[in-house]
Amino acid sequence: MIIVLRQGSTKEQQILLKAALEEKYNVTVNTWTGVESTVLGLIGDTVHIDEDWISAQEIVEKVRRVQEPYKKANRKFHPDNTVITLPGGQKIGDGSLCIMAGPCSVENEEQINYVAERVKNAGAGFLRGGAFKPRTSPYSFQGLKAEGLDLLKGARKATGLPIVTEIMSAAHIEMFESVDIIQVGARNMQNFDLLKQLGKTDKPILLKRGLANTIEEWIMSAEYIMAGGNDNVILCERGIRTFETATRNTLDLSAVPIVKKLSHLPVIVDPSHATGKAGLVEQMALAAVASGADGLMIEVHNDPRHALSDGAQSLTPDQFDSLTKKVFALKAAYDGIMNGEII
Ligand code: PEP
Ligand code: MN
Repeated sequence: MIIVLRQGSTKEQQILLKAALEEKYNVTVNTWTGVESTVLGLIGDTVHIDEDWISAQEIVEKVRRVQEPYKKANRKFHPDNTVITLPGGQKIGDGSLCIMAGPCSVENEEQINYVAERVKNAGAGFLRGGAFKPRTSPYSFQGLKAEGLDLLKGARKATGLPIVTEIMSAAHIEMFESVDIIQVGARNMQNFDLLKQLGKTDKPILLKRGLANTIEEWIMSAEYIMAGGNDNVILCERGIRTFETATRNTLDLSAVPIVKKLSHLPVIVDPSHATGKAGLVEQMALAAVASGADGLMIEVHNDPRHALSDGAQSLTPDQFDSLTKKVFALKAAYDGIMNGEII
């Protein structure tokens, strides 16, 4: 349930109403203060709430029931876009295009440092590399694990790029303490215990969409993290399973505007895992920008043909240079069109 307050209601009145609601109905009340209005979001069992009593309060403009099962992630509870700000000042969701790039797997020091330098020079704002790899086969390379994390930290030191890497188990949360953005992969999107534990941290969490999950299930997984107290969630569309076999997955780009309407969380797109083919990545990255995405995640490898994982979808650094030039140009044109400056 959301309560929109009248313009001009004072802080004291708001605090009194919040306290009365919490006591009377045993709900949690989130306050969102915008430029034009203040919204109270009620979380908990709201079935027995007396709407007439609330409407009768002096400072209440209107009361609305929220049908969606997600609350904290719901745009109705938080009309402004969420902007994630890292301690180093980097922002995601502020209208700029954030690019996370790097190899599927961290393989060795030379490789990660070289790729980090190249993606930085091409305009990426974040270095992404896998240290713990969720592989379909137990016989495939599983990642360098703790050593991979150390190599990522070394590359961060050398380039200044914040690091993004995937966590596979709640038991590793302490080990991820100095990771800048923790990725939850598609296969763990509904690992509810992991999501709950990440909700207790204050790290930005990059939550990939599950291989066969609906948009609502995906947002509900974000809600798990937020319900624990961590509002720093970034969603990542990475393609879903369909009957199509021409691509590794089917990139569901309509999910971007849909999620941005339903939720205030930033949404980025991963065309690498979505297509599985390096030759399709650039065009799908451009399409993602035109869909309104807040950023991209792209796999880049120094030598894709010999990559230990996902070589077929990895771009060379030169290909990535060409991609970033085009996506930044398209982003500038897209912003101009959307602001009415072009046309
Ligand atoms: C990855 O990002 O390398 C990865 C395994 O992605 P996903 O979880 O989307 O399959
Ligand atoms: Mn990969």
